[in-house]
Amino acid sequence: MSSSPGKILFEMKGIGKSFPGVKALQGVNLTVREGQVHALLGENGAGKSTLIKILSGAYSKDEGQIFFEGKPVDIRGPQDAQALGISTIYQEFNLARNLTVAENIFLGHLPRKGLAVDWALVKQRSREILDSLGVTFSVDTLTSTLSVAEQQLVEIAKSLNRKTRILIMDEPSAVLGEKDLEKLFDVVRSLQAQGIGVIYISHRLKEIFELADEVTVLKDGRYIDTRKVADVTMDDLIKLMIGRELKDVYPQRSAAPGEVLLEVDHVSRTKLVHDVSFKLHAGEIVGFAGITGSGRTELVRTIFGADPYTGEMRILGQPYKPRSPADAIHHGVALVTEDRKAQGLFLKLNVTINTTISGLKQLCRSGVIQLSRELALVQKMIKDLSIKTPGPNFIVVNMSGGNQQKVVLARWLSIGTRIFILDEPTRGIDVGSKSEIYQIMHDLTKKGVGIIMISSELPEVLGMSDRIMVMRQGTIVKELSRAEANEEAIMSYAVGSEAGGALGHTNN
Ligand code: ADP
Ligand code: MG
Repeated sequence: MSSSPGKILFEMKGIGKSFPGVKALQGVNLTVREGQVHALLGENGAGKSTLIKILSGAYSKDEGQIFFEGKPVDIRGPQDAQALGISTIYQEFNLARNLTVAENIFLGHLPRKGLAVDWALVKQRSREILDSLGVTFSVDTLTSTLSVAEQQLVEIAKSLNRKTRILIMDEPSAVLGEKDLEKLFDVVRSLQAQGIGVIYISHRLKEIFELADEVTVLKDGRYIDTRKVADVTMDDLIKLMIGRELKDVYPQRSAAPGEVLLEVDHVSRTKLVHDVSFKLHAGEIVGFAGITGSGRTELVRTIFGADPYTGEMRILGQPYKPRSPADAIHHGVALVTEDRKAQGLFLKLNVTINTTISGLKQLCRSGVIQLSRELALVQKMIKDLSIKTPGPNFIVVNMSGGNQQKVVLARWLSIGTRIFILDEPTRGIDVGSKSEIYQIMHDLTKKGVGIIMISSELPEVLGMSDRIMVMRQGTIVKELSRAEANEEAIMSYAVGSEAGGALGHTNN
């Protein structure tokens, strides 16, 4: 972290921007200096991308002013931004996949020697730029054969070839693994040393502490504050970002469980599930804790009909013998796994289609969708789950992660799901959106849904569960009430170091 403040490169003041039904930005300020890494922090939907799209000329602003080196400027399009030396690296790269690295770096302004392209210069200059970034692959490499991390470096090289003074990176880390991230950080630091002002967008606090000099926080499209990273703690930033203390993230639950929804009775599966019995009530969240390999995932796969098993299960007192996931879904059981991309959200389609696609049969009469019934159902879901959207026709890709997650849940609810199995429901989600998902889970239980939650994060297990089942070696070794549970107790049962003989059940 260099702290020698360079001169001010640009200032954005009082920026406002609306989309139909959404005030994406209001009164937002951002000042970036030469050689500074300025982090832009905020939850999904806070307005980060919209702000930098205004700076890069992709969107026009409704309100506010932009000053470049003290002079007011009018950025009417990407060309204006480029002329000022503003380059942006978006999440979707703008590379021509069937061209070489060198061709991409010079795309749109190939140097000429007489009538011919000066390929020697193109290659030489490309090599120099890649060397300056510490990149070793050949400039003749076909871009399509590069990894995502390498393509990102080509994007950076491309912008450096254009006299960049400000480099904007919109969530560059989202697509990178740990090792590539370190490499990216080195590159960012070298850009900083060259006097380039870097705007680094992320919702990951750790990266901000590692990389940034200053941080500007946005929340719900509003400017919250700008702070020196050296002067803030992680908790300070969380509080600025989500507007409350971390401990207030979990909803206040007062368990008033209803009828027994699901009964699991002496269920075993060939491997990793031995003689498991428990009940799930309406309105209840039962958390499953345990270390990796304790059998939690295998147990819920069994309940979801994905694996053969012995033992008995009942739903609302009736025998439940799921032979397949489709069968389980038909009985009102949903399994939502941590892989949200595989949840089948159609990002380019609207809220209505995404909500009703699984239940279209019920909405049809003689093969024709009853549009009025479909609309009524979607509007009810939007209201019941407080889905933040301008309307049923809004395209899902423009929604925040938390709201997309709500659409996934709406789809399940629209086909009458009452038993939700959530496997690591908040893995990889930023802290603010986490609390949104906790609130949805809480709201679902108030509608009589029962939730089985697998989680490896103990604060989440403790914060959300009405009862906690600790699994070890394929079986439930202990049930803990909300009152008696704490991290030490859970861990000691999970790893088997609890005080001798204090087990509720024994395994072998
Ligand atoms: P962030 O990048 O911080 O996640 P965005 O700037 O993408 O946030 O979004 C801010 C708000 O503006 C969100 O409510 C989002 O749904 C909305 N929004 C962004 N782009 C568009 C668009 N092209 N059309 C309509 N609404 C949009
Ligand atoms: Mg964004």
